[in-house]
Amino acid sequence: MLGTPSRLDAARTADARPRRIRDLLVAGEPTFSFEFFPPKTPEGQRKLWRVIREIEALQPSFVSVTYGAGGGTRDRTVEITERMATDTTLLPVAHMTAVDHSVRELRHLIGRFAAAGVSNMLALRGDPPGDPLGTWVRHPEGLEYADELVRLIKESGDFCVGVAAFPYKHPRSADVDTDADHFVRKCRAGADYAITQMFFDPEDYLRLRDRVAARGCDVPIIPEIMPVVKLATIERSEQLSGAPFPRHLAEEFAKVGDDPEAVRRLGIEQARRMCERLLDEGAPGIHFITFNQSTATREIYRQIAADRAPAAAAARP
Ligand code: FAD
Repeated sequence: MLGTPSRLDAARTADARPRRIRDLLVAGEPTFSFEFFPPKTPEGQRKLWRVIREIEALQPSFVSVTYGAGGGTRDRTVEITERMATDTTLLPVAHMTAVDHSVRELRHLIGRFAAAGVSNMLALRGDPPGDPLGTWVRHPEGLEYADELVRLIKESGDFCVGVAAFPYKHPRSADVDTDADHFVRKCRAGADYAITQMFFDPEDYLRLRDRVAARGCDVPIIPEIMPVVKLATIERSEQLSGAPFPRHLAEEFAKVGDDPEAVRRLGIEQARRMCERLLDEGAPGIHFITFNQSTATREIYRQIAADRAPAAAAARP
């Protein structure tokens, strides 16, 4: 029996936007999207859902939830992504990693996402739990590289699958050319789009795009941006991305280092400038790392939207 249509169903029906990232990307308008991580505590969960609702009001192109290195946070990733698909108007992308999973378990996971109506994935190999640069050990019945996960998801149904790209090269890759070869391999396995590792120099993104294009690959690569809102973020981001923080920017931040509000303002301004440059250079969208805090990313998003589509930005709450 069909139930009475809910307000959510009505909102979805009225929303004629495509429900697959690849279709959003071919539509031509830049996408704006936001990344969350699964919190470990009930308080973290409550806060996350407050932030998700704030972001929902901006009607982003899509949102994504990272997949933890193991244990309970993985279940939480699945629960959050499922709830986004069923209880919000957001378009969720499920991150999936091959770490410590047999192919059977991965198939089961794909099935769970599909059952909740999640049709967009980000296929990742993941890092060894504990030390991300430690020795990678494939699950005895699992996968070695992300291109195999792309193939597995694609064989499992009509999914739109993204992969990771590394403007500064992946830390395990010998050089940028080998890295680009392996990236293109993932695209040839069926990837529809890519999202980059965070970076701070737009030239790194543009050079990666050129390397990929030179290999005859035109899969859209969405840059990932993480605004620096505290000085400590700079060090953390260097560890996470493997890319050095540009010296001229480090000097700008050092000048205001003892004023936390000035650091935050500079971080927002620097991220906004970078987003504008990337979009001017034809980047297909911007993917914001939020660390489950929406204030800085919402501010940047509003400024960019106001510059590019003033009427639409004004109409948004
Ligand atoms: P792969 O593409 O398999 O590459 C891994 C290394 O192997 C690279 O050096 C690559 O060049 C090389 N390689 C690839 N194919 C071959 C081949 N056939 N032969 C030889 N070498 C090869 N991690 C998480 O745990 N959870 C997340 O949710 C998560 N989300 C992310 C989101 C984004 C946007 C990005 C950029 C990264 C994310 N990561 C996440 C981190 C990611 O899992 C790690 O960076 C991981 O080390 C690499 O994953 P990959 O999918 O790029 O692996």
